[in-house]
Amino acid sequence: MLNIQEYVAPNSLEEAYQYLISQKGATLLGGCAYLNLGTRNIPLAIDLSRTGLSYIRENEDTIELGAMTTFGDVEHSAILARYFNNILALSVRDIVGIQLRNLVTVGGTVYSRYGFSDFITALHVLDTQVKLYKQGIFDLEYFLENGSKEPDILEKVIIKKDNRQAVFKAMRNSRGDYAILNLALARIGDKFRIVVGARPGRAALALNTMEYLNNEYAQKRELSPEILKNAGEIIAEELSFGSNGRGSSEYRKELAKVLLRKAIQEVI
Ligand SMILES: Cc1cc2nc3c(=O)[nH]c(=O)nc-3n(C[C@H](O)[C@H](O)[C@H](O)COP(=O)(O)OP(=O)(O)OC[C@H]3O[C@@H](n4cnc5c(N)ncnc54)[C@H](O)[C@@H]3O)c2cc1C
Repeated sequence: MLNIQEYVAPNSLEEAYQYLISQKGATLLGGCAYLNLGTRNIPLAIDLSRTGLSYIRENEDTIELGAMTTFGDVEHSAILARYFNNILALSVRDIVGIQLRNLVTVGGTVYSRYGFSDFITALHVLDTQVKLYKQGIFDLEYFLENGSKEPDILEKVIIKKDNRQAVFKAMRNSRGDYAILNLALARIGDKFRIVVGARPGRAALALNTMEYLNNEYAQKRELSPEILKNAGEIIAEELSFGSNGRGSSEYRKELAKVLLRKAIQEVI
C-alpha cells in the first residue's frame, strides 16, 4: 500500500522538477502500477499527468514517445504501426491485461530500467535515445548501463526512423506472467542487431552473435541451419543467464537459442 503524505500535480515539467529536488524521498508518479506493488511511505508524491507528456509524435526523422504515454497508447498507435513491423505494440500486448496496460507508462518503465521489461528490449533493438529533463539526451544503451546520475524526470523517448525490420519474441509460463526470456532482433539492410532481456538481468546487446551473423551473411548471402546453430551457441555463451523462480540459467540459454532462430527466420 502507498502511504502518501503530500500530493502535488504540477502543470509544468520545471515545477515538477523543483518538487522532485525539494526533498529526499520525493517520488514521481507514472501509472503507479509498480509503485503500488509494495508498501511505501512517500513524503511527497508528484503526479506527472498534467505536464503534457502523454503523446506519440512523428517528426521528419524521429518518433517521440512522451513519458506519460501508456502501453495502451503504444499498442493502438497508428504511427507506431507503420514502423519496425509494429514491434513496440507487439512487445507490450501480452503484458497482464488491458487495464494494466492502460495505466503503465513509458517513463516509469524506461527510467526504472527493469530487467524483466519487454518494452525496453524492443526499444533497445531500435535506434533509441532517452531525454532526461535536466541532464539531456542519452543513447538508451548508455542509459540502461548507467541510469541517471541524479534525480531527474524522463521526459521522452526518441526513436530514429529508419527502414529496419524488427521482430520481438518472448517465452512465458502462462499468459500475463513475466517473460522467462525475451529477445528482439532487427535487420538493417544486411546487418543484424540482437537484444536479449529478462535473462533475468537487464536487456543487453548480443555483440558477438551480431558480429558472427553479420560476417556470415556478408560472405554467403544466406544463413544456413548450421550458421543458425552456431549463432545459438554463441548467444548462449556470450551473455549471462541467471536462475530464478521462472527458469534456470540452463533453460534460459536453450530458450535464447530457440528465440534467436525463430526471430532470424521471421526477419529473413
Ligand atoms: C502486476 C504487474 C505485472 C507486470 N508485468 C510486466 C511484464 O510482464 N512485462 C513488462 O515488461 N512489464 C511488466 N510490468 C511492468 C509495467 O509494464 C511497468 O513497467 C511498470 O508498472 C512501471 O510503469 P508505471 O507507469 O506503473 O510506473 P510507476 O509505478 O508509476 O513508477 C515506477 C518508478 O518510476 C518512477 N517514474 C515514473 N515516471 C517517471 C518519469 N517520467 N521519470 C522518472 N521517473 C519516473 C517512479 O518514481 C517509480 O520509482 C508489470 C507491472 C505490474 C504492476
